[in-house]
Amino acid sequence: MLNKIISERNIQKAKKLIDQSDKIIIVSHLSPDGDAIGSSLALYHFLLQIGKSVNIVVPNNFPGFLKWAKGAKDIVVGEWKENLVRELVNVADLIFCLDFNILKRIDQLGPLVEQSPAKKIMIDHHPDPDGFCDVVISHPEISSTSELIFRFICRMGMFDYIDKSCAECIFLGMMTDTGAFTYNSNSPQIYYIISELIEKGIDKDAIYDKVYNDYSECRIRLQGYILYEKMKLFKEYRTSLITLSREEQKKFQWRKGDTEGFVNIPLSIENIIFSVFIREEESMIKISFRSKGKFPANRFAAEIFNGGGHLNASGGEFYGTLEEAVALFEEALPRYADTLLMN
Ligand code: 5GP
Ligand code: MN
Repeated sequence: MLNKIISERNIQKAKKLIDQSDKIIIVSHLSPDGDAIGSSLALYHFLLQIGKSVNIVVPNNFPGFLKWAKGAKDIVVGEWKENLVRELVNVADLIFCLDFNILKRIDQLGPLVEQSPAKKIMIDHHPDPDGFCDVVISHPEISSTSELIFRFICRMGMFDYIDKSCAECIFLGMMTDTGAFTYNSNSPQIYYIISELIEKGIDKDAIYDKVYNDYSECRIRLQGYILYEKMKLFKEYRTSLITLSREEQKKFQWRKGDTEGFVNIPLSIENIIFSVFIREEESMIKISFRSKGKFPANRFAAEIFNGGGHLNASGGEFYGTLEEAVALFEEALPRYADTLLMN
């Protein structure tokens, strides 16, 4: 049996809003990952099953290894379809905000969503949600938003409306936000839910294969390059740093998603508990952080790079050169020595 994590009050409020709405949109975060796409598509399939008109909108494109999911090709990519997005947001009577806690995370869609008269429901697992939604279903103790979507549908008494496509998308997000069940994945309830999803007909091994064994040759060669040439260890701080310039990305014909997961690799080195990946993008420097144990990657992201996220997986941004970002990181690192050495 599942614990009743989502409050009865939130379920009743959300259910009423869904009943009252005909035109629903689902919005998720910038550079959508497996949980953003998985949770959005899972809710999308469910809402279609109960006869609603629904669209998914994300700020920018997402990696090819998520495009096999049913419905993925119908996702509206904001940066390509500005007018359509404006229209959809304007006529919507309900907006679901999935897998993000602050409007900044949806980039250019933020002001549109904020100004929309539509009712808003947040379903998310990042700490400290902002108050821009009418219903806030925020559970940082749950490892994926996709798991929350399963719980949300079940708590509304609508388990029977989870079809195979919906179940596949729930599994996709649960798997990717736990590194294929290698971290944040000790809750027995996760495996109870997976057993229910398998009963719905999903092939979990095939989903793993589609996500993790479908890389381009360039990605694998880039992985070899960064580990051999670019990884720098700060052993005294139990930390690893990888940097990647635009020029290097061009050399390896970088495509969206090609560097996904690289930041996790140095954590497999003994005694390394903090891994940082600094990547030059067209208009900014994007930083990814991963940590093991109690070291708060999200605090480092927030304090040094104006970012945030989860305790063990977070991100931030920097406006300047790659070298300046690296200098800022190297200058800040010693200030975290106590926490790094303690954990
Ligand atoms: P990733 O390294 O996979 O891009 O991001 C890991 C996690 O960090 C995301 O799931 C998200 O919670 C958080 N995150 C990434 N970038 C940012 C950012 O710029 N700002 C904030 N607040 N969180 C971020
Ligand atoms: Mn997530």
